[in-house]
Amino acid sequence: MPQSYLWAIEKCGGVPLLIPATNLESTLRTLYRYIDGLLLAGGGDIDPAHFGETPHSALGSVDAMRDWAELIIASWALADGCPVFGICRGIQTINVAAGGSVWQDLAAQVPESIQHKNYPPRADNRLSHAVYPESDSHLAAILGDLALDVNSLHHQAVKDLGAGLRVGARSPDGVIEAIEGYGKSWVMGVQWHPEWLLDDDPRMLRLLEAFVSACGEYRDARNPEP
Ligand code: MN
Repeated sequence: MPQSYLWAIEKCGGVPLLIPATNLESTLRTLYRYIDGLLLAGGGDIDPAHFGETPHSALGSVDAMRDWAELIIASWALADGCPVFGICRGIQTINVAAGGSVWQDLAAQVPESIQHKNYPPRADNRLSHAVYPESDSHLAAILGDLALDVNSLHHQAVKDLGAGLRVGARSPDGVIEAIEGYGKSWVMGVQWHPEWLLDDDPRMLRLLEAFVSACGEYRDARNPEP
């Protein structure tokens, strides 16, 4: 877990609690009781078996235990209305947990797509391309903008949307760069890395703050003051 995620949560007044990759459901169940929101971080590729596909030759490395642990805890959070925020791999985790699918490799499977794979040595906060939030999206309301430039360190993206999810933003090539929930619970996924842009763009800080604020509301609703 890169430190940048922890700093981002702390900067917004939250307390990061790290959940290990484990194959013990009882461990996840116990930790799940302590969280007021679930942040799904970036990482490697999700095994396409989780969305009913066989591996494409351009699929990257997969981690079976991380897939299992993240998908099960994400499904609990989505079912319970616990706030969920996904970053990079995390947007894909939300979508797959909700029954959706993922482009296994944009360059191979969506040849008209722009360059999304801008990995280091380019700086983590280097802005790579525009994204356009949908005008009626929760994302647009939080950001207060219908266009922004973002970093882009991914080779996969959301393909078919999972249940209860809608598109929040796309890049100029039509690739889905953000998804969000339809319901009243706080569900958001972004394909870029706002946690690396907090000092550069106040809109990214607002996005993290909105998540932590939703976590506080969820906590207060579950544990009302006597
Ligand atoms: Mn991108």
